[in-house]
Amino acid sequence: MRLLIAEDDPDLARQLTKALADAGYTIDHASDGEEAHHLGDTEPYDAIVLDLGLPKIDGVTVLRRWREDGRDTPVLILTARDQWNEKVAGFDAGADDYVTKPFHMEEVIARLRALIRRAAGLASPELICGPLRVDTRSGRASVDGNPVKLTANEFKVLAYLMHHQGKVISRTELTEHIYDQDFDRDSNTIEVFVGRLRKKLEVDLIQTVRGLGYRLEPPAES
Ligand code: CA
Repeated sequence: MRLLIAEDDPDLARQLTKALADAGYTIDHASDGEEAHHLGDTEPYDAIVLDLGLPKIDGVTVLRRWREDGRDTPVLILTARDQWNEKVAGFDAGADDYVTKPFHMEEVIARLRALIRRAAGLASPELICGPLRVDTRSGRASVDGNPVKLTANEFKVLAYLMHHQGKVISRTELTEHIYDQDFDRDSNTIEVFVGRLRKKLEVDLIQTVRGLGYRLEPPAES
């Protein structure tokens, strides 16, 4: 899952980037509204953290433009304390949730998890596919109750497929959702990650759809 953090305060941006990267997300950062608008307009983020007080173009305007252009990425806005009118303007512009500064990082992470889950139409933070369970809170995976140890990138691939169960996901789409904008992308690495995942999971859950990509599905009932 890939996130955009639009925050001009360098310390706060660094803290958010670190905490969310540690929580297993791929992060791009924008330090002003112009850059934020451009990235949100051109890159397929799974969610966006948007500070409303941004230089060049303010956060509310950025958000309104995305929504006017039909971009429906979940957006969590960061608002200043005691600025209830900011929250109202943010929601009216199309925000999905908010946190007030100063905030606890855990709350931001939990709210983003919930936004991403809801955007995928999922109710529970534990994702289940046949014998496979992925806990999006702890970042742990298990098959038939046995823990499966995954690298950060393997987990990113699996988490994306789990959020889009039953759908065909192309290699390009996977690549776009696990690497940040500066990464030198090579779609072959996706095949390597999927190969390792199949080996580690031991059960046949990730199907190759020839010429199109991959599909995660529970095993057929026999
Ligand atoms: Ca700011």
